[in-house]
Amino acid sequence: MKTQRGHTGRQGTENPLRIGVSACLLGEEVRFDGGHKRDSFVTEVLAPFVTFVPVCPEVEIGLGIPRETLRLVRSDDGLRLLMPRSGRDLTEAMSRYAAAKAAEIAGMDLSGYVLKKDSPSCGMERVRAYDRNGVPTKSARGLFAEALLAANSLLPVEEEGRLRDPWLRENFIERVFAFRRLKDFFAGPFTLGDLVAFHSREKLLLLAHEPAVYEELGRLVAHAKGQPRNGLARTYQGGFMAGMAKIATTRKQTNVLQHMQGYFKKVLNGAEKAELAALIQDYRAGLVPLVVPLTLIRHYVRMHGVEYLQGQTYLEPHPKELMLRNHV
Ligand code: SF4
Repeated sequence: MKTQRGHTGRQGTENPLRIGVSACLLGEEVRFDGGHKRDSFVTEVLAPFVTFVPVCPEVEIGLGIPRETLRLVRSDDGLRLLMPRSGRDLTEAMSRYAAAKAAEIAGMDLSGYVLKKDSPSCGMERVRAYDRNGVPTKSARGLFAEALLAANSLLPVEEEGRLRDPWLRENFIERVFAFRRLKDFFAGPFTLGDLVAFHSREKLLLLAHEPAVYEELGRLVAHAKGQPRNGLARTYQGGFMAGMAKIATTRKQTNVLQHMQGYFKKVLNGAEKAELAALIQDYRAGLVPLVVPLTLIRHYVRMHGVEYLQGQTYLEPHPKELMLRNHV
């Protein structure tokens, strides 16, 4: 399963990507019933581009395979992780383990994490929690997921169920690659000129996600002279990842496409300009996916050597083989 392949595309990742994952999603037979929940996007589409770090919290706290089922129960003491048949309470064991493992993960240089949905340990949202009468509501988060998110606030984290949505999938993978670039950049010493150049390369990508964040970070960079580098790096990274977490909607993508269109004013003839404008309108109307106008734009960028656009990560924020922009 593990493959380690560097990428030299515009997405600009220097180091291989390591992704944490609920072990059952890789096909490991670690579930309570001795089975797995192999996920084809994770194991077939994503696998060639990343190295996985599998974790099964329930096995790692010493539970057997197979094992009794677990559930979250709301009590006066808060959320408890119980084995309903035997009454065994695993809350303390899981909470202790989860806090230690989440801290360990924070030091593992991961670029993302894929969690198994609905699990009382791994589920990120809408996990069933039972009240004292045994009535469930989809209102909780698994105990391991809770600790993971608390200790890794910038780490892109998603559930495999949500990754079936093409918009959430594209957003997650963009965040994974963006987080890698961000960490690579801030891993070493940098000048303010370097930061200006980094921010400039990410401009169109940030505009597609959250224009206000691009502006806000631009002001931060412009007034960064004399500021301690650590604080600057922390604020920039926090803002950047918060911006990337916003979905790049059709409207925002259209604005970015039209922005790029402006760079071709002097190099395209009338028919070419009309064709590009028509494709952008088709995208806006939902008639073609994003990859269609972008392919033409990439072609013109190459053909006419439009230097500014050539450096934009937006044109290839993740490997094209993932085909993520064929579905948004
Ligand atoms: S959901 Fe999490 S705890 Fe449950 S089997 Fe999968 S990895 Fe293990």
